[in-house]
Amino acid sequence: MEILPGIHQLKLPFPLQLDQLAVNAYLIQGDKGWLLIDTGWNTSQAFAAMERQLAEIGLTFRNISLILITHFHPDHYGLAGRLVQSSGARVALHRIEKDFIDSRYMHMDGLLDETAAILRANGVPEKDLPRLQKASLGVRQYVAPVSPEVMLNGGETINQGPFQFEVIWTPGHSPGHVCLLERHRRILISGDHVLPATFSNVGLHSQSGPDPLPNYLRSLRAMDQLDVDLVLPAHEHVFSGLRPRVQEILHHHEERKKAIMAVLREGPRTAYDISLRIPWIVNGVTMTFDQLQALDRRLAVMSAMAHLEPLCNEGIAQKMQRDGVVFYSLAGGQ
Ligand SMILES: [Zn+2]
Ligand SMILES: [Zn+2]
Repeated sequence: MEILPGIHQLKLPFPLQLDQLAVNAYLIQGDKGWLLIDTGWNTSQAFAAMERQLAEIGLTFRNISLILITHFHPDHYGLAGRLVQSSGARVALHRIEKDFIDSRYMHMDGLLDETAAILRANGVPEKDLPRLQKASLGVRQYVAPVSPEVMLNGGETINQGPFQFEVIWTPGHSPGHVCLLERHRRILISGDHVLPATFSNVGLHSQSGPDPLPNYLRSLRAMDQLDVDLVLPAHEHVFSGLRPRVQEILHHHEERKKAIMAVLREGPRTAYDISLRIPWIVNGVTMTFDQLQALDRRLAVMSAMAHLEPLCNEGIAQKMQRDGVVFYSLAGGQ
């Protein structure tokens, strides 16, 4: 679908087993070749969907000269390896994300051990540990890894035909997440940083860096300063109204913080205990922890942790260890 002259949105399906909405990739016309932003999963369905939508524009894979990945999550990066083989395109990714490719998609034993240790230390019962620890292993089959040739830091400008895309580093949802801003045309390609309906997951884990939530809120507030008419997100639909959406997301996280503080008022709790006591939203549906699938349970515990650590840094909460398990409580006077 052509969003604006020279900018097309491609809809790429999720694997059937993962009951989720599509990934939006964007294809941008240039003088020497086309720029593809995000790839979708490595499935034959996504590959065929991309091929068909390219053909509708009169293109083949060979017309793509650069593939820019907003962040290394499998729905954005999964098909990159196969697309490089078919197109000969170069891949661009933020420097921080590149370092995670090996541990997430190639040699995963270390990451699995770290994940188990984090979940155990945050109160997940032994009987639930293996399921939560291995919940994302299945996605490995949907990723064809490739090493990026172009390393991004944020601040670069990508000249693509009549467009000038500024790379903005927006850590939080993923530590090396980037958005692309076209200042003159007032367009933001927002990846998973800002979605129109879903609140992107922000969790504390071994590939998140130490401060994912403060980083996320900071990079979200930076979006509030931009003059943008149209936001092109990686899921759901194109929308206007970046500022009101940024305010909604900020408000959502403020409410989460209050809900967590309310639980802490009852006494010391682990991140797992807190996850059991606050509501979760999955695909727009509010659920209890027990209703969540294993991967969403893991994301829930790690999301609670992402909120709890800044509460400690702000002096609102404190933590103590008992038998290797971390308990959070409100600091005196709260
Ligand atoms: Zn993501
Ligand atoms: Zn995504």
